[in-house]
Amino acid sequence: MKATEKSILRGGQFLVKETNCDDVFTPEDFSEEQKMMKDAVIEFNDREIIPNKPRFEAKDYAFTEECMRKAGDLGFLSVAVPEAYGGLGMGFVSTLLVCDYISSGTGSFSTAFGAHTGIGTLPITLYGTEEQKQKYVPKLATGEWFGSYCLTEPEAGSDANSGKTTATLSKDGKSYKINGQKMWISNSGFCRLMIVFARIEDDKYITGFIVEYDKEKPNGITLGEEEHKLGIRASSTRQVFFNDTVVPVENMLGGRGEGFKIAMNALNVGRIKLAGACLDSQRRITTMAVQYANERKQFKTRISDFGAIKVKLAEMATNAYVGESACYRAAKNIEDRIALRVEAGNSHQEAELKGVEEYAIECSILKVAISEDIQDCSDEGIQIYGGMGFSEDTPMEAAWRDARITRIYEGTNEINRMVSVDLLAKKAMKGHVDILTPAKEVQEELMGIPSMETPDYSELFSEEKDMIKKLKKTFLMIAGAAVQKFGQELDSQQQLLIAAADILIEIYLAESAILRTEKNAKRFGEETQAIQIAMAKLYLYHAVDIIEEKGKESIISFAEGDQQKMMLMGLKRYTKYVNYPDIVDLRNAIAEKVKAENKYCF
Ligand SMILES: Cc1cc2nc3c(=O)[nH]c(=O)nc-3n(C[C@H](O)[C@H](O)[C@H](O)COP(=O)(O)OP(=O)(O)OC[C@H]3O[C@@H](n4cnc5c(N)ncnc54)[C@H](O)[C@@H]3O)c2cc1C
Repeated sequence: MKATEKSILRGGQFLVKETNCDDVFTPEDFSEEQKMMKDAVIEFNDREIIPNKPRFEAKDYAFTEECMRKAGDLGFLSVAVPEAYGGLGMGFVSTLLVCDYISSGTGSFSTAFGAHTGIGTLPITLYGTEEQKQKYVPKLATGEWFGSYCLTEPEAGSDANSGKTTATLSKDGKSYKINGQKMWISNSGFCRLMIVFARIEDDKYITGFIVEYDKEKPNGITLGEEEHKLGIRASSTRQVFFNDTVVPVENMLGGRGEGFKIAMNALNVGRIKLAGACLDSQRRITTMAVQYANERKQFKTRISDFGAIKVKLAEMATNAYVGESACYRAAKNIEDRIALRVEAGNSHQEAELKGVEEYAIECSILKVAISEDIQDCSDEGIQIYGGMGFSEDTPMEAAWRDARITRIYEGTNEINRMVSVDLLAKKAMKGHVDILTPAKEVQEELMGIPSMETPDYSELFSEEKDMIKKLKKTFLMIAGAAVQKFGQELDSQQQLLIAAADILIEIYLAESAILRTEKNAKRFGEETQAIQIAMAKLYLYHAVDIIEEKGKESIISFAEGDQQKMMLMGLKRYTKYVNYPDIVDLRNAIAEKVKAENKYCF
């Protein structure tokens, strides 16, 4: 179905508007072309990456580079690059799909791939001049050159605009000299191009530059030794030093002082892609875990028959299913928004930029949620393997170490949690997402007498969808009162912001799973979706619990007296089921399905 301005929500609007299940995109909607791309990527991963895991673990950086070249030969590096610059020019969903399925072999390759195609290439496709794009993008799209992104410095991490690297204009006005030190730079060991951020004079904001790096003619660029890291061991990560590195003025990216904006927008795309890059790992870990659990016997019983193990298998599968539901929902919103902007006359470049920026809240939400899911999934994977899980000879150990970085880079999860709430507040102020009107309605509702009627919940997901509405009211009740209490000072109430972000995250993920499953039940029949229905219900149950806890913590931290009492009552009302799901039954059903199929099968 073609998206229209009406059928597609603006970023953040999921919180205040209902979405019809027919309006969400799901992995079951992949086109034939997307299915073929998915198969090709899985085949590449199975052939080139997975069997060579020991080489990645042995820090064979050259091998990472070799695999990147092969990915380039197959066109995987160019999916998101417009055809005019030698790319395949596929849409955002396809871009996410490639990131998803190429990333599960090892975090090392996943990081190299993500750093090159995302933050290493995107700033040029999004902000480059025509000359810059013609000169550099085709080389990056084919893998002739690899890209890296040099933002972080020893004293400028989360506070990315505080970097000390300088760019000084030459007397003849033809070039800049870059001086400074960058650290934690992925792909630095084999890149041929760097996106470097530096400050000109005492500008408020940094500026971006495209810097070529030819090892034969290093132009003042030196690299530190490879970092010794907990995981992603064959991802090249070094410090980069610039000593009077000469960069022609025409290599400035965007305008002077626009670097921070460029850096942040590149990260928005990076965030949803990183979320995507954590999905197939969860599928694979779940598959390996169930295969092991079906084989391994203790007390003359397969360990997969123990309730304690079934809980893990069910939760692992559920989180993977829910994460993919949310990721592809947002990816299609981005793709549709880009298409609408192109139709309205925007250049593709501008449309893509604004399209992704529109959904920056969802990008942060997904990054946080799915990076935490992969961490939990790999942790439970180790637990299911028992002692063997702790051994380097089994895949769980490396999966766990590799997963850890995803909570740190592309903006730490603390920063991303705060970003999501901050952006929502900004959108509310701009009038893009009206939070105030529904927040007032919730306040009024709380003053009134609750309905005593028992609702008819016979239709699929009717209670769950009501619950989602109530969870949204919970957010609005707390956010509305917090804004009234703290006003501009809300920014400094970090614990409150983080709790609010957790509520947002749970709402978005739970709703996405319900909508996907409802859509599939409608078109394929409810009986085909029995386990997916169980997963959507199980996730929602946990979401309600988390929201109740975070809500309570927030309310008692800032509300007092009658207001506190009223809000706590409201919280109780909005987090109460009429019919509680039997989550033990739900988990058993999910686990039995995964066990019977001997793999993640959704
Ligand atoms: C393996 C690896 C690869 C990387 N690749 C790249 C790359 O290719 N290019 C690049 O430019 N960078 C890269 N990075 C850097 C990465 O983006 C940063 O590590 C990250 O942004 C965090 O910065 P930091 O390490 O300085 O931590 P800090 O900013 O010092 O943060 C430390 C802790 O304090 C918290 N914190 C910081 N500020 C706040 C705040 N305002 N409020 C609340 N909590 C706060 C953080 O959440 C974190 O928990 C990479 C890092 C690693 C480890």
